[in-house]
Amino acid sequence: MGSVLLRARAVLSMTRPPIKNGAVLVSGNRIAAVGPWKDLSRHARAEVMDLGEMVLLPGLINAHCHLDYTDMAGQITRPRSFPDWIKELLALKAQWSYSDYAQSWLRGAKMLLRTGVTSVADIEAVPELLPEVWTATPLRIFSFLEMTGVKSHRAPEEILHEALDRIESLPSSAGSPGLSPHAPYSTPPELLRLSAEVARNRNWRISTHVSESRAEFDMFMHRRGPLFNWLKSQRSMSDCGHSSPVQHLERHGLLSSNLLAIHVNYLLAGDASLLGNNGVSVVHCPRSHSYFGHDPFPRQELADARVNICLGTDSLASVHQDRHQSVELDLFAEMRAFVSAKDVSAETALQMTTVNGARALGLSGSIGELSEGAFADIIAVPVVQESDDLYAAVIHHTGDVAGSMINGDWILKPQLVRSS
Ligand SMILES: [Zn+2]
Repeated sequence: MGSVLLRARAVLSMTRPPIKNGAVLVSGNRIAAVGPWKDLSRHARAEVMDLGEMVLLPGLINAHCHLDYTDMAGQITRPRSFPDWIKELLALKAQWSYSDYAQSWLRGAKMLLRTGVTSVADIEAVPELLPEVWTATPLRIFSFLEMTGVKSHRAPEEILHEALDRIESLPSSAGSPGLSPHAPYSTPPELLRLSAEVARNRNWRISTHVSESRAEFDMFMHRRGPLFNWLKSQRSMSDCGHSSPVQHLERHGLLSSNLLAIHVNYLLAGDASLLGNNGVSVVHCPRSHSYFGHDPFPRQELADARVNICLGTDSLASVHQDRHQSVELDLFAEMRAFVSAKDVSAETALQMTTVNGARALGLSGSIGELSEGAFADIIAVPVVQESDDLYAAVIHHTGDVAGSMINGDWILKPQLVRSS
């Protein structure tokens, strides 16, 4: 088992203060030690790689993505309402073939790798792709199989069993499966309940979109609004008019520490505590949030309730693309959008894309941090300007990262200053 000792201008381990002139010792696929260069340099038997002025940090964790929609970037411009966006998305999807989705998924995976992501929680609308795409990328993939049940009127048991059969046929070593009942408005309550039960028994994660739009909140709280009006001819609305979307999830047994609740933009008083007390992780997607023009994300309220908050890119079908510039899946861009919209530090934003993401996936200590025993998922970011705040300097990095290692293997090998 080979060892390599990486030296860099600084190491941001995310579990201890920044280490200037730091080093990380990698042994096989794990991190063996992290510390000041002067302490670790006595590991004479390891190959040394000097990364000069770069900063080393854990590979980023994208806690919400739809890789299969990557090539929809710029296709849906300025929807008038949230239901209008869904209608346009469904129309677009109907025109796509298997190979469109496969190419789109793989292109998205490459974008994530170039921009420093090493783990992604992805929603799979086309799970037929998974045996092919899982083995075609070195990313750590957490695939949540999407289930809906409004248009089809199929029995919830049947929808769930189809997803379970699909999961059973996957190559188990290449990725990790989970379930994604799409959203409370698109999923029969019984399917929410059954999914929660199966995920609990099998120790899987669940990911669901919840309280994303004002329209969804009004549908569940007040039986009114554009989503209510659109869906009332398509689904039973007997579950509306009683509660907030978050309370709706609680009633059907979904609130638990294995849940990644996506968006959570609209809260009723008490919802934040319900999420916090049940150990739920919330995933905020800053650029998608701004594309839809939602009310401000209730970060402070969720943080006060001790909710674990992570960041995700969402899909490029809901990120604004201006006419002259293409847009990419990029967690650095999401972190910058987040700190500019909120009164939070760059360090907080980086915690959300590292240690918080790991906690959401049940992998604290294994990914999202540089510490002894963790998987060697490491990125190198060039930092040129002098700055007292290394976290800020890192999140202002644009373009591709200079190096990326997953499970001890270089995916992007950095240019060396010196190697011995
Ligand atoms: Zn989504």
